[in-house]
Amino acid sequence: SQEKISLLTSTTSSRKIGELEDDTISYFIKKKLGVWCKQSRGHWELGTIRSTSGEEASVLLSNGNVTKVAKSELLPANPSILEGMDDLAKLSYLNEPSILHNLKLRYSKEMIYTKAGPILIALNPFKDLQNYGNDHVPAFNQKFIDIPHVYAMADAAYNEMIRDEVNQSIIISGESGSGKTETGKIAIQYLAAVGGGSCGIENKILQTSCILEAFGNAKTSKNDNSSRFGKLIEIHFSTMGKICGAKSRVVQLGSSERSFHIFYQLCAGASSALKERLNLRDASNYKYLNQSECMTIGGIDDAKKFQELMKALDAVRVCEEDQELIFKMVAAILWLGNISFQVTVSENIIEVVDDEAVTSAALLMGCSSRELMAALSTHGAQSENGTIAKRLKLQQAIDTRDAIAKFIYASLFEWLVEKLNKSLQVGKKCTGRSISILDIYGFETLQKNSFEQFCINYANERLQQHFYRHLFKLEQEDYESDGMDWTKINYEDNQECLDLFEKKPFGLLSLLDEESNLPKASDLTFANKLKQHLDTNPCFKRERGRAFSVHHYTGEVFYDTNGFLEKNRDMLHSDSIQLLSSCNCELLQFFYKVFSQTQKQSNSFHTAALDSQKQSIGMKFKDQLFKLMRQLESTKPHFIRCIRPNTKQVPDIYDEDLVLQQLKCCGVLEVARISRVGYPTRMTHEEFSGRYGFLLSEANIYQDPLSISVAVLQQFNIPFEMYHVGYYKLYLRAGQIGALEDKRKLV
Ligand code: ATP
Ligand code: MG
Repeated sequence: SQEKISLLTSTTSSRKIGELEDDTISYFIKKKLGVWCKQSRGHWELGTIRSTSGEEASVLLSNGNVTKVAKSELLPANPSILEGMDDLAKLSYLNEPSILHNLKLRYSKEMIYTKAGPILIALNPFKDLQNYGNDHVPAFNQKFIDIPHVYAMADAAYNEMIRDEVNQSIIISGESGSGKTETGKIAIQYLAAVGGGSCGIENKILQTSCILEAFGNAKTSKNDNSSRFGKLIEIHFSTMGKICGAKSRVVQLGSSERSFHIFYQLCAGASSALKERLNLRDASNYKYLNQSECMTIGGIDDAKKFQELMKALDAVRVCEEDQELIFKMVAAILWLGNISFQVTVSENIIEVVDDEAVTSAALLMGCSSRELMAALSTHGAQSENGTIAKRLKLQQAIDTRDAIAKFIYASLFEWLVEKLNKSLQVGKKCTGRSISILDIYGFETLQKNSFEQFCINYANERLQQHFYRHLFKLEQEDYESDGMDWTKINYEDNQECLDLFEKKPFGLLSLLDEESNLPKASDLTFANKLKQHLDTNPCFKRERGRAFSVHHYTGEVFYDTNGFLEKNRDMLHSDSIQLLSSCNCELLQFFYKVFSQTQKQSNSFHTAALDSQKQSIGMKFKDQLFKLMRQLESTKPHFIRCIRPNTKQVPDIYDEDLVLQQLKCCGVLEVARISRVGYPTRMTHEEFSGRYGFLLSEANIYQDPLSISVAVLQQFNIPFEMYHVGYYKLYLRAGQIGALEDKRKLV
């Protein structure tokens, strides 16, 4: 029985979903059924309709007041038996107030997880609910309880991996501060508990989060522990389902308000001996740190965090010498930031101030002060008589200094990730089956959005498309190609927005690269170029001056191009590279080697004309993102949508508008609807009969997979509206496969 559903997005349908027809209203009056009644400021109140006249209805609200409203402002409420349902798809009415009410009720009872068909909605509690940890694992693992939970989802992925021998992924998305990273850690912790063996590798996997967060997270206005990199952790299992290795892939990005945690942790937590070796001061002495107003985070003890970090580094077997090298690089960056320049008035040339900052940075980097000062104040220019040293202008010198610091940090992070990967190396016993957990920086809309937000939001746009493809497109295409009579559910595709970013030669990223390569270009010329080429794109909007807007799946975001070109260019000059290669420091020489290798590689991809060019930051970001998405493509996805119930990062506040806006833009409501009328379990007849055929009491009568499948369904009295027999596949509605699996286990 196909349920007809009206379109969901208000742009395509003039009638709101579930709006009451006249005859339904009479029925609601007669049976005293509840309705949602729209109040001022978009707030909804529960009530019952008493009477109607014309287009108006008189409603008795639950607070005892009687109000008159237009009929169009009424929506049906769910019967009280459906209050606080654990799956939105189980609600009779899936309108906005019903969904918001359901989630709010659950949130108030500390039930932060709710299903929306196949996806898990996770509301950030901003407090410890004590519902995780090894004590809770058996209940999910042995299926004593059946409630929505990250553990339940991780368990499903684990079981499907073993049952179907297909790699799985858990994809966590949501805005900044919604709880993705915490949720990812909870999932990993579950997998470590069920897949833990004797080799202790699961503990190492858990410790890597601590290390990556120290180096890759920073405080922002949205989140005190915001991920400034995206990561995909791939956990490998043996045939027996035991963890045998892991690997992370990261997509890097710049920092924000407060810098990366590691800088503060090192300053606060280093022992006095280490401090002496690094010539380290208090964080407040360093320009890279003290320029922001925020030096500490409420409730966070940086010194304690540093001790945890050292323990984690020990656990993943990063040896003491390597730890020392890491901290040396971190300290070198801090001292680099303190190097200052003076301009001599008469000749208008700059000189590096020869002070403690230069000596300390040079010492830590393994070069002489003289070499460092030369690299920061001059660059070699070709002339007829060979190379001559040309003096840099003040801004160029500052940029060179910062570019060296950024290069060292980015290389250090990459090196660290590889180090961790080696430590978690996939052993020989691995079957190659894996579960990947994706946690990237969440969508960000700040007051002023810059290049970082541009990259973050682009990545989220890509991820959103992955979500759409798997939950709407592929599923519905499957139904149609298998001869099912299916009323198509529309959804808002974001292909146009992705094209705006990715199209060549007139996409945002290409145009940015083109402009970055022009010596005279500025952020303003870049903005003008965008307006010239993209004005007709429906996702692009011109703004005044240097600004432009993009229509993202979350709504319109305003970008200021200030700093775009500089941030996109890889500012490292050959002189700086030269300096690093001559440093007497193992790590810096290694960074130099990696750098020159990737330069060669990326140059061989480009045309001859671009031969000497370095890959821009934007393109590198896109490359890394594509690699990550490609890795996901080959897995069966499980989606978790994290929701931030308030912007204050505090418990027990549920801001309806904020929640609704997040639910709407990510397509959760549509997914709940499609899963109610759809068939989440799909197996070919071969797969199905192969797995359950042996349960048949009279096994030998049927030969072909299709007949065996049908016979199994009949034997176990699966109601006919719960399945659809296609040409190739068998489609089952939610909740059906579980019963068959139970039967199978009993045999
Ligand atoms: P970003 O995109 O900025 O990296 P995020 O979605 O990864 O954000 P998290 O860092 O995971 O967000 O969560 C932000 C904060 O919310 C955490 O530091 C923690 O205080 C709280 N939090 C998130 N999830 C939970 C949870 N399940 N239980 C308790 N607190 C949580
Ligand atoms: Mg995060």
